[in-house]
Amino acid sequence: MGMINFLYLIIGTHLHMLSMATGNSYIDDLRSKPEVIDLPENEQIIDVGEHVSDTAQSPLKPNVTVSSSVRDLLECPVCLNAMYPPIYQCSNGHTLCSGCKPRVHNRCPTCRHELGNIRCLALEKVAASFELPCKYQSFGCMGIYPYYNKLKHESQCIFRPYNCPYAGSECSVIGDVPYLVSHLKDDHKVDMHNGSTFNHRYVKSNPREVENATWMLTVFSCFGQYFCLHFEAFQLGMAPVYIAFLRFMGDENEAKNYGYTLEVGGNGRKMIWQGVPRSIRDSHRKVRDSFDGLIIQRNMALFFSGGDRKELKLRVTGRIWKEQVVPLNK
Ligand SMILES: [Zn+2]
Ligand SMILES: [Zn+2]
Ligand SMILES: [Zn+2]
Ligand SMILES: [Zn+2]
Repeated sequence: MGMINFLYLIIGTHLHMLSMATGNSYIDDLRSKPEVIDLPENEQIIDVGEHVSDTAQSPLKPNVTVSSSVRDLLECPVCLNAMYPPIYQCSNGHTLCSGCKPRVHNRCPTCRHELGNIRCLALEKVAASFELPCKYQSFGCMGIYPYYNKLKHESQCIFRPYNCPYAGSECSVIGDVPYLVSHLKDDHKVDMHNGSTFNHRYVKSNPREVENATWMLTVFSCFGQYFCLHFEAFQLGMAPVYIAFLRFMGDENEAKNYGYTLEVGGNGRKMIWQGVPRSIRDSHRKVRDSFDGLIIQRNMALFFSGGDRKELKLRVTGRIWKEQVVPLNK
């Protein structure tokens, strides 16, 4: 029906644009990675060449209006997600994503006709010629990506927002670092400190209650960056322990440029941890469960606390520094 005509029109328009843009990155991309379209053998590739001249004379202007229409066509009518090959269609031309296909019991969700196994190669090919901005554009990413590369980019985009680093809550807030810093301050009432050295006291009146809960998060601001110091009690196997570690509010490759030490002691003994802050891309739980921090057995912690072992009083001191940037000579 009308939709089929419309599709041919779009394909024609795109091929026309493609043929004018030789050396274009998405053509190269398709050549170098033919598997992205994944055409099964023996299936005919629709010959759209004859339509090119039709659309060249078409009054329809390519780009903006066509693009948003194609974008709508690429939305699965069932799950509303963007569709990727294989895209299926019923005998009336209604499309459906491969994820939803097994769930509709072989009935087209739009017209209730039998669905069968008809690939919509035309739409798959249109999608391949299509470029979209990264979905984190509002976070600052200016990248434009071929349709089939967009998801992969977005999973690694350095502008993708961070999860709230506050542990022990179900907080679902996401955002960039400045946004999360004010969120931690305003909504979680987290202590903020300026400077790269610190001296903290953690006091708890009943240390026998070791629960899987966050005790404390402190945010440090130094070197123009933000760091989260976590201190908490948890159960390591059967043993109740305390752990302290630092996370960097930024990406992993930048986190590696910093180092930190934590010291805790008393009664003439001292434990020192030296580490590299972990990016907040790694969840708090992941860092804790890899024991990447200063771990203090409860008995030792009580010994450090002095007194009659009724109260936990730990003094943790620490320092954050920026590693010297060594010029690459390899
Ligand atoms: Zn779907
Ligand atoms: Zn249908
Ligand atoms: Zn991006
Ligand atoms: Zn939060």
